Amino acid sequence: MTASALTATVDLDAIANNVAILRAASHADVLAVVKADAYGHGAVPVARAAIAAGAAELGVAHLTEALDLRAAGIDAHITSWLHAPSADFAAGIAAGIDIALSSERQLAAVVAAARESGTTATVSVKVDTGLNRSGVAVDEWQSFTESLAKAHAEDAVRVRAAMCHLVRGDEPDHPLNDAQAARLDAAVADLTRAGVAPEVVHLANSPAALSRPDLARDLVRPGIALYGRTPLPDRGDFGLIPVMTLSAEVALVKKVAAGQGVSYSHTWIAPYDTTVAVLPAGYADGVPRLLSGKLSVRIGDQDFAGIGRVCMDQLVIDLGPDGGGVREGDRAELFGTGAHGGPTAKDWADAIGTIDYEVVSGIGARAVRRYTGSVAAELGVDDGSGQDRR
Ligand SMILES: *Cc1c(COP(=O)(O)O)cnc(C)c1O
Repeated sequence: MTASALTATVDLDAIANNVAILRAASHADVLAVVKADAYGHGAVPVARAAIAAGAAELGVAHLTEALDLRAAGIDAHITSWLHAPSADFAAGIAAGIDIALSSERQLAAVVAAARESGTTATVSVKVDTGLNRSGVAVDEWQSFTESLAKAHAEDAVRVRAAMCHLVRGDEPDHPLNDAQAARLDAAVADLTRAGVAPEVVHLANSPAALSRPDLARDLVRPGIALYGRTPLPDRGDFGLIPVMTLSAEVALVKKVAAGQGVSYSHTWIAPYDTTVAVLPAGYADGVPRLLSGKLSVRIGDQDFAGIGRVCMDQLVIDLGPDGGGVREGDRAELFGTGAHGGPTAKDWADAIGTIDYEVVSGIGARAVRRYTGSVAAELGVDDGSGQDRR
């Protein structure tokens, strides 16, 4: 195994495990959400692993993300649901991407692109059932439906799915979940009456997929659970396995005398003669500066506290007076599965008042993605050299 200074190890067997758990819990097919470079894990290998493990489809936000997956040779059904006016719908149509629409303006642009190329665009309808973010707004719904029926009648579009996104999926028993599902079902009835019945319907994100099988229609649309982070910590881990382990090579070990300060502004002063280590991971790599003084790393079976400021490229840990037997070149786990103790992405999130979604998706491009697991070998993404995801 070739070492790299900073490594995000991505366990593709864990992806396979998590797909199986999501299918079993939801009794539905899985549309694996691989937006934002698969929440920082690497979109192409994760997409391949998810499909190999039985996920039916893929989903991303930007069309450019969908086009990148196609360019990598992934021929699965891909839905893309966030479009700005500059979006290249013609390219999306040419690549056979399912374009989820949030407005009549988007529909008109897609229809124009479809006419231009003389083809039929595959579209889905993103219904705003209460999130008031993306999705067709309530006041536009009727005229949107009429325009969609017209576009369908002239073969400019084929309507694949109706979808919406939950406001409070992470509160499974909240009545808003049921209200949103009812609004989506009503929208499907409207579309059906207009002659544009969707082929499939989906609304459940990770927490709903795991806890509300009654909300699953044809597909569930999980992101974070695919990556093995429980979306409902109070209800346990559901058997999910965390996919990403972030580790750094100890770059430098040195003595610091009692009374000396460490890192910018000397926010940590050595209370005793000690030994410190420098790790090549900083806020530019996604280690939040807010974690200064609040993180610990695991080396072997010992935990060591981060001390002083987290810098752009590096952070410092205290090895204690005896140095803990740590040597330059040893590997420090910044976060991992937590299965044998050791820090997790959730520990980081809790320490700074955010969610683990932000932690894993924020791990930067300098962390070399290394793909492991039997699936990795089968998919040819495990070349043993710490393959970069780009
Ligand atoms: C990101 C996203 C998801 C996945 O959400 P998780 O909470 O990570 O499961 C599903 N649907 C849409 C529309 C999204 O934007």
